[in-house]
Amino acid sequence: MFDSLSDRLSGIFDRLTRRGSLSAEDVDAALREIRRALLEADVALEVVRPFVERIKEKAVGVEIIRSVTPGQMVVKIVHDELVATLGEEAVPIDLHATPPVAVMMVGLQGSGKTTTTAKIARRFTTRDKRKVLMASLDTRRPAAMEQLKVLGEENGIETLKIVPGQTPTQIAERAMTAGRLGGYDVVILDTAGRLHVDEALMHEMADIKRIADPHEILLVADALTGQDAVKVARSFDERVGVTGIVLTRVDGDGRGGAALSMRAVTGKPIKLIGVGERADALEDFYPKRIADRILG
Ligand code: GDP
Repeated sequence: MFDSLSDRLSGIFDRLTRRGSLSAEDVDAALREIRRALLEADVALEVVRPFVERIKEKAVGVEIIRSVTPGQMVVKIVHDELVATLGEEAVPIDLHATPPVAVMMVGLQGSGKTTTTAKIARRFTTRDKRKVLMASLDTRRPAAMEQLKVLGEENGIETLKIVPGQTPTQIAERAMTAGRLGGYDVVILDTAGRLHVDEALMHEMADIKRIADPHEILLVADALTGQDAVKVARSFDERVGVTGIVLTRVDGDGRGGAALSMRAVTGKPIKLIGVGERADALEDFYPKRIADRILG
């Protein structure tokens, strides 16, 4: 995902660290190159601008030019700034609430929502030893309901029985009741998506939220769609409110802009990343690890 950004930055840093001393102009030139590399990686301009500005301030503050290894100091400053932009610490999914804890999955169609629902359910079941129920609320796409059921069967996770003719809110209500009566720890609601954010979808999400009172609302976004993923996250957050983001297809050859912009633009943490199609291809999001990867 971050390969081309990583290559670009390492080229810039190689040139810097090879020099014994740096002039203010050298630092300025490097910052311009860093700015360009970030924009080419599809990082949002509103993120790039303050990012470069902060590096500049810090660089002046530590008197890089007079230090013994000025290039390395710039690298360190950029690394710290990357970690800060990505959110500093990992933020795990929070299940600390009275069971059944509702987790609501939202996002556009094709973002990987159903796959991620099953991945998260599998993780809660196998790693955290929780009793999990999954429910599909995608009443417009019977195939999506069927897909969740199949994923449940493949991974040994229970799904709410499909009852044709019910509305999404009726299913949400039935899922929460089943969760209570069945002694489930977690109920994961896989909501419907659309190709674009639209009003009707947002109303539907708000209704489901009211019924299920979810402890977590996770927005699933496709990293390959770059800044669009960030825009989608912002729309959902403004209209429904999200508690965290799952970025999918981080295994793909995207440019990394979505991962780098998401936290700074939305203020919401990336909690998990999808790194493949298989049910176990889900990882925690560690800002420091990602920064290390970007800087090689
Ligand atoms: P939904 O419409 O949002 O529910 O999307 P799906 O869960 O059906 O996913 C759409 C496609 O993306 C499926 O073929 C998934 O296998 C694939 N997919 C989901 N997450 C990932 C991921 O992290 N990496 C890769 N490579 N593929 C993924």
